[in-house]
Amino acid sequence: MDPKAADLLACQQPLLAQSVCLRCLDHRTIVSGKGSVFMLCQSQQTPSQWPKYPPQPLRQCGYFRSDEPEPVAD
Ligand code: SF4
Repeated sequence: MDPKAADLLACQQPLLAQSVCLRCLDHRTIVSGKGSVFMLCQSQQTPSQWPKYPPQPLRQCGYFRSDEPEPVAD
């Protein structure tokens, strides 16, 4: 599934829509064959014991990296 389509599907899931992972550069939304949606963490900064699939909804994360572009200074 296209990554943007997967993210749109995640936005429609009440729990995942609240997750900080959905706005993180290092997430990947996984959609199973049965239509279940999961958040995969692909961060290279997390410790080795960090879960690949963090419990959701994750409200805060010290490894969060915004997927929003930095504002351009004048
Ligand atoms: S780094 Fe944190 S916020 Fe980003 S995908 Fe991993 S668990 Fe989610």
